Order: sequence, then C-alpha cells, then structure tokens
Amino acid sequence: MRNRNIGLYIHIPFCIRKCQYCDFLSFAAEEEEKEQYVKQLLIEMKVRSAQQKDCVVDTVFLGGGTPSILNEKQIEKIMQGIFTCFHVDENAEITMEMNPKTVTEEKLKVCKENGINRISFGVQSFDDNYLKLLGRIHSAKDFYENYEMARKIGFSNINVDLMSALPGQKVSDIQKELKKAVELSPEHISFYGLIIEEGTYFYEKYGQEDKRREEGKESAADDLPGEELEREMYQCISETLKGKGYVHYEISNYGKPGYQCRHNLKYWERKEYLGLGLGAASLMENVRYGNIRELKEYMEKDFSVDRNSMIMEKEILDKKACMEEFMFLGLRKMEGIRKDDFFQGFQKTYDEVYGKVHNTLLEKELIQEAGDYVRLSEKGIDVSNYVMAEYLL
Ligand code: SF4
Repeated sequence: MRNRNIGLYIHIPFCIRKCQYCDFLSFAAEEEEKEQYVKQLLIEMKVRSAQQKDCVVDTVFLGGGTPSILNEKQIEKIMQGIFTCFHVDENAEITMEMNPKTVTEEKLKVCKENGINRISFGVQSFDDNYLKLLGRIHSAKDFYENYEMARKIGFSNINVDLMSALPGQKVSDIQKELKKAVELSPEHISFYGLIIEEGTYFYEKYGQEDKRREEGKESAADDLPGEELEREMYQCISETLKGKGYVHYEISNYGKPGYQCRHNLKYWERKEYLGLGLGAASLMENVRYGNIRELKEYMEKDFSVDRNSMIMEKEILDKKACMEEFMFLGLRKMEGIRKDDFFQGFQKTYDEVYGKVHNTLLEKELIQEAGDYVRLSEKGIDVSNYVMAEYLL
C-alpha cells in the first residue's frame, strides 16, 4: 500500500563552463564522463527506489548544473528510469532546468514525450551586457528562440529565472527586465538577488566591496547596488508582477494562480523528498541526507554491495531542529506559517514555544499576524536572515 507522497530531485552536475557568480555543485565534463554518470545515476535510482515502495512521487525536479546539457538518449534513459523505478502520480509536476544554448527542438520534443511538463529556463537577464558580465554562455536571443520552440512543442508551464542586484544595475534596468518578462507571460518567474558567494569568480572581484556594503559602509566602487537600492528593486519586482496577476508566494518566487512550483514548496513546507545524484540532498522521515560531492568517489561506489554508500552526511533532526526548520523555511512563504500546522506537527502550541520571540518581533514590526498565520512584514523581508535566526531555539 502506498501511503506517502514524496518529491524526487535528480542532480545533473555538468555545465558548459562555470558562471562568474555560481557556487552550485557544477563543472564542465567530457562526453564519456556524462555517459558514465547517467549509468551510475540509474543504478543509484534502482537501489534507492527499492526503499521507497510505499511512496508516490508527485513532483520531480531535474536540476543542476545544466540538465539540458545531456543528449536526447540520456534524457530518455533517466526519464524511463524514473517511471520504471517509482510510482509516479499521473498529475505529477515534472520540471527540468534548461540553459539556453544547450536546448534544441529535438531535445524539447524528447522531454515532452518522456513526461516532462514544466521547464525552468535559467535566463538571468534579457540584457546581453549582463549575460556577458555574469559569464552566461547564451544571449537573450538564444533564450527567446528556446522559449518560442518550447511553446510550439506544447509546454504550458514555464518558469523564467532572473537576477537582480547585479553590479551597476538600476531600478530602471529592473523595469526593463520586468517589461520583457511580462510580455512573454511565463507561468512562473523566479527573481533572485545576487549573492556574492565565497569561492566564486565574483567573490574575487566584488568580495571586499560586498563586505563593506554588508557593514553599511560606503562602497569603494559604485558597482554593487547598496541596501536601499536593492530594496527598491525588490519592491519594484513585487509590485509589478503582482499588478500583472502573478501571486507573490515566496520571497523570490511568483506564479500565475495555480502555477506555484509544487516541488519547491515541498522544501519550504518540510515535505519529504529524495535526492539522487552527486551531492543531492534528501529529507525522509525527519532525517536529512547528503550524497557524496566528489564525482570520482561517486562514480567508483558499488551501490549494489551497499545501497546507501552514496550517502556522505546523515543528520537526524530532533524535535527542536524540526521546529526551527518549520519556522525559518515556512517564513519564506509570503503567507507565512500556520499556528495550527505547528501544533499538528509538534503537539505544542506556537505561542508556548515562540511566544516571547514572537512578541519581540511583532513589536519591532518584523512579523505580522493574520488570523492563524504568522508571516514576515515588508520590513521583516528586508532583514529575513535576522528574523529567521531569532527562531533558533
Ligand atoms: S549554468 Fe547554472 S549551475 Fe551552471 S555554472 Fe551557470 S549558474 Fe552554475
């Protein structure tokens, strides 16, 4: 008997080349390496799905890296593997991330024929100057061609990823990006602010400037937008997209009604998901798992001898850790968390556990209460990391 719904994440760690700002687990690889990786991934899928016989997969997300870097045969094999190994719900949301320049009409057709029903295009900007600065491999034109092709082939659920707070960017640039995005009318738009992560090319270039900015000091160069400008950009994005009928449902995510990303919602709602492939994370029965992050090590494992040998990290979450996660993940959603869900999950009331923190944050106008819901205020969104940290027990 199948009694649990889970999400399935598949990590494809390959990219044509590394973008300037990227700290994801991704790198360039030879064709032969990709071929071997797909083989190993399918073995992992087989052994780990055997432990999930009681589960129905109702969302699938092929992320990376660049899943669309794979060839048609490899995509077909992975999708067939998923449908053979798991019980996939007939209404499952099945997303594949695509990077323009790696997409062809043939590939899109293969995706459609093999059950992929949602595409997430990593566009980041419609301005070729920014694409160049970010180190993207594609132009805006490449994306437009892909988008049109995808629509022609029949994809009716498309996400477009965009970025704000880029070096030199102004609110007027954001307005131009929004105008172009809205004209296309994708079902979903993710608009993330640039974060300068350690270990990236951008960190070498802007790391010092970013530190000064975080400390509220004047930047040496006027390249990275300051906090105030970033806030204006954020408000411009939220107001414009809401005005065009998009539901602002998570700090950085907007969907037309009925098109919120069901897979990502699982992360914010602490629903169960299984991650397969290099470095993939899972959450199953309040245990967080992380797969091996070294490609060579992953490729050399004999999963048939030890079916869990790809797992490198295992963290059993106690009740306290689960409560904290419930709060700081749930508060990412614009509707916030529901006190009754807290009680259902932990048999303790929200007020009993967080009453004191709640009152302080309410006084500082960083959170709001609406019926049974607690959510971040506009002011709270600006300092969301601080607010979430307050919920650590
Ligand atoms: S395409 Fe995506 S995963 Fe690959 S390097 Fe660029 S940002 Fe990173």
